[in-house]
Amino acid sequence: LILNSIFDMKIAILPGDGIGTEIVAQAVRVLEALGQKFEMETAPVGGAGYEAHGHPLPDGTLKLAKEADAILFGAVGDWKYDTLERSLRPEQAILGLRKHLTLFANFRPAILYPELVGASTLKPEVVSGLDILIVRELNGDIYFGQPRGMREAPDGPFKGAREGFDTMRYSEPEIRRIAHVAFKAAQKRGKRLTSVDKANVLETFQFWKDIVTDVHKEYPDVELDHMYVDNAAMQLVRAPKKFDVIVTGNMFGDILSDAAAMLTGSIGMLPSASLDANSKGLYEPSHGSAPDIAGKGIANPLATILSAAMMLRFSLNLPAEADRIEKAVKQVLAQGLRTPDIYEAGTTKVGTVDMGSAVVKALRSEEHT
Ligand code: NAD
Repeated sequence: LILNSIFDMKIAILPGDGIGTEIVAQAVRVLEALGQKFEMETAPVGGAGYEAHGHPLPDGTLKLAKEADAILFGAVGDWKYDTLERSLRPEQAILGLRKHLTLFANFRPAILYPELVGASTLKPEVVSGLDILIVRELNGDIYFGQPRGMREAPDGPFKGAREGFDTMRYSEPEIRRIAHVAFKAAQKRGKRLTSVDKANVLETFQFWKDIVTDVHKEYPDVELDHMYVDNAAMQLVRAPKKFDVIVTGNMFGDILSDAAAMLTGSIGMLPSASLDANSKGLYEPSHGSAPDIAGKGIANPLATILSAAMMLRFSLNLPAEADRIEKAVKQVLAQGLRTPDIYEAGTTKVGTVDMGSAVVKALRSEEHT
């Protein structure tokens, strides 16, 4: 503890839009309550960046994100920006940060806290005790592949008709680096990795499968299996506890990680991390800016608080502090405190600030035990 506090670690705080500002404020309080010396600097991003500087990812915000040791991000977006040209829309800030900082590995844990088992739409016996990790590649795949666009179809039965097209591609280094990240994550957990592909239909994912199989030789202690994405979607709702770590490409990961999020009942509980090759990362809740509840003081801040815990573990090398936050969150849930999104009869309904205060209090009281 003493050693760590000698170094000032810099955290870029990017609250963004909608509930982003409300939930990040609570995560900042929790970080401050740890008694560590963090340098925290805030900058506008998303719609807030556009309002302040005419761009969703202003130069000053990008500079701060680059020089910081880690980034704590809220959420961006509001319907009112939907008519802006695509490059100026709030969501471009996330894509820009991922690209400029080469954040290629997205970690999405889906953990079901025993107290929230009733919040899931699945039967308790299917989901209770769920603890899986989805590792999604973030920088490649059909989301970024060129060429793409709209044109007149150059061939095929609809030659000459208008068409939209994208390109799915993955290079060997891209697959290798995400595979290494996923095998290492599996080593620290249950030592089982499922690589999800569509090798039966797509060349890109036959290649993916071959490379992951090759990387596996360096991790003999991890059990690897391969699963087609359609089967993986089915198994996630049928028997999700069978999984330990899942690794997959950008598009399949996008879809599967949202399905996994819903297994736990509330998107308001799920943190995420996007890491580069040196474990620098951007940490954010898995949900969006929730414009429907923004400003009402009822958003669940726990996903953001748990994202701050992931930040301490993966980027700032403070695993004990990460454990403390996670323990404090479990404690407030055990006390029966719930924001409206996870409320059930017999529990106590609280707002965003009170939930933050309860976590801070749990951290402080643990110091005296
Ligand atoms: P959303 O995640 O913002 O909201 C979906 C539903 O979940 C809403 O009913 C919302 O009230 C609820 N919800 C979300 N987070 C909550 C929380 N912490 N506590 C309680 N309830 C919560 O998704 P959406 O409505 O599809 O999108 C809203 C905006 O967010 C859009 O502009 C979208 O582009 C943007 N978005 C941003 C991100 C991001 O910043 N990473 C991710 C997804 C969506």
